[in-house]
Amino acid sequence: MTDSSFLDVALTRLDEAARHLQTDGDVLERLKYPRETTKVRLMIRMDDGSRKSFLAWRCRYDDTRGPTKGGIRYHPDATVEEVETLAFWMTFKCAVMNLPYGGGKGAVQVDPRTLSKAELERLSRAYVQAFARIIGPDRDIPAPDVYTNAIIMGWMADEYASIVGQSVPAVITGKPIALGGSLGRDDATARGGYYLVRHLARELGLGSRMRVAVQGFGNAGQFIASLLAAEGHSIVAVSDSRGAVICEDGLDVDALLRAKAAGQPVTSLAGQGGVRTLAAEDLIAVDCDLLVPAALENMIDEANAHRVHARVVLELANGPVTPEADRILEGKRVVVLPDILANAGGVTVSYFEWVQNRQGYYWTVEEVHERLKATMEREGAKIWSIARERQVSPRTAAYIHALSRLASAIEAHGTQQFFTS
Ligand code: GLU
Repeated sequence: MTDSSFLDVALTRLDEAARHLQTDGDVLERLKYPRETTKVRLMIRMDDGSRKSFLAWRCRYDDTRGPTKGGIRYHPDATVEEVETLAFWMTFKCAVMNLPYGGGKGAVQVDPRTLSKAELERLSRAYVQAFARIIGPDRDIPAPDVYTNAIIMGWMADEYASIVGQSVPAVITGKPIALGGSLGRDDATARGGYYLVRHLARELGLGSRMRVAVQGFGNAGQFIASLLAAEGHSIVAVSDSRGAVICEDGLDVDALLRAKAAGQPVTSLAGQGGVRTLAAEDLIAVDCDLLVPAALENMIDEANAHRVHARVVLELANGPVTPEADRILEGKRVVVLPDILANAGGVTVSYFEWVQNRQGYYWTVEEVHERLKATMEREGAKIWSIARERQVSPRTAAYIHALSRLASAIEAHGTQQFFTS
């Protein structure tokens, strides 16, 4: 896929949902293009005294339903097209969950593993200096994404506070707890997906002893493996950016977590108690009940979708399955729980964090879990019933559901018919 077609491909999902809803032309005109994308070059001083620059973006895709919301990604392959596509997905994700937000996203084109901790801090503060006029608690609220984390959010909140001269914790979510973060934000993406799968298990034909394969072992991948293993499911295979491992009797998830915490790849477990290495590209072909893509976009495409051997795919990553792959999986009767629902637990608890920051009143982790569970189950059940009633995939149902909320908000400003009658 050429990079320039990235957003166009994502928009095909909007077109499909629009056909089912007979959406007003005004609505599509509004949602087809990002509202605002800013590109800057961040300049920082490196530890060796040299100066280095990095490309960075922030996109506010649509703010009809509220301030724009979405993470900041640090990745060497980040591009403007990717940022705009991710911001488009955030617009629909927030609408799916009925959060009072539009969609946004940011990125820095950098491999953070090549930076020292002090360089990473300077880069993160430089990002906020560059985008301080764009972000804000009622304008655009960043959060973590691929290769960004709580400590980075803490630096960013601190930089914003020094620019505006006061503490504004609600400008950014996913902060450390000590700096106004919410309990339960760390595992929220995985936990949301876990609640969804549990709620729909019967409809999905999933039992109490599932075989699970997890692609990508970062925040979402590690937490979903822990949550499912704790419930007695078997994590048979996992991969990270350096390789994959498989164990027919189930991997020792605690040992995997310890290896990752020590900076080692998942393949460091190979050779212990029936654990074998597996080519990373074969992870998606593992015979399992639940396949969890938790890495990057376009991992399951036209070329490899026919190899998927799972009953259900839970998209904890954003955009892991291409539209061509969707059609192949549908033909194989593999049910895909789509990203804009499946991984929406992260932004949902970000919303809870923002609410707590604005109230100055903090919830227990049990309250966070209960509200997250209720939201995932409510919206998951609605999407499942739309899929059944209209005989469409859960992905198309999720887009229909989100689009009807977005359309009501856009149409509330008046449509062509209103202005010409
Ligand atoms: N980066 C996450 C996502 O793609 C979370 C965004 C947020 O919490 O605002 O959904």
